Amino acid sequence: MSRRILMVEDEEELCLTLGDRLRSEGYVVDVALDGNAGLDKATQLPFDLIILDIMLPHRNGLDLCTDIRRAGQNTPILLLTAKSQTVDKIIGLKLGADDYVTKPFDTLELMARVEALLRRTLIASDTAHAIGPDLFRFGSIVIDTRRAKVTCAGIPVSLTAREFHLLRYFAEHPGVDLSRDELLEQVWGHMAGTFTRTVDMHVASLRQKLEPSPKRPETIITVPGVGYRFQC
Ligand code: CA
Repeated sequence: MSRRILMVEDEEELCLTLGDRLRSEGYVVDVALDGNAGLDKATQLPFDLIILDIMLPHRNGLDLCTDIRRAGQNTPILLLTAKSQTVDKIIGLKLGADDYVTKPFDTLELMARVEALLRRTLIASDTAHAIGPDLFRFGSIVIDTRRAKVTCAGIPVSLTAREFHLLRYFAEHPGVDLSRDELLEQVWGHMAGTFTRTVDMHVASLRQKLEPSPKRPETIITVPGVGYRFQC
């Protein structure tokens, strides 16, 4: 089924070019040219993704983001920000946006972000691992992402903040081969003094805490020459 994207953007030229590009990739695209129209569409029609400009007539993108989340909509939101709005993108992420792209952007980059966000929700909705809000089950492992708590076969597991972050990243990408570099970047960010060996040490620790036989892991699998895969 085609995935539906709402684009809230007042630059008609951009709506045309980006809309055409998205449609050529098979998406169904709806456009709102100001904040009020955007809120109406976002809360009344089903979308798989919302592309949201920050500078909009009537109601800016940040207010709109707040209002959409307040209305109980969890649709992924990709913010479009101008270079001068670095503060806004941080505020936007805190208000519930999922990602952002800075204008002027490369269309290929934007398409990649769109695909990544849609893939994330597809995984979350299709694999039926979600057993409640913020609660995911993988075999005997249950992850409570809101409270940052993990149980294994019903027994609470004590993880460091970094181990939890790593486990959550694995759980968000089940069945996907993840390189050590990607894990480093996503879980550790660009921290000085972190090396791929750091990833291996944390994986070893997670295996000790979560795998029935850590030397023969069944959940966090080593992918030779690549990194790791969360198997479920
Ligand atoms: Ca604008």
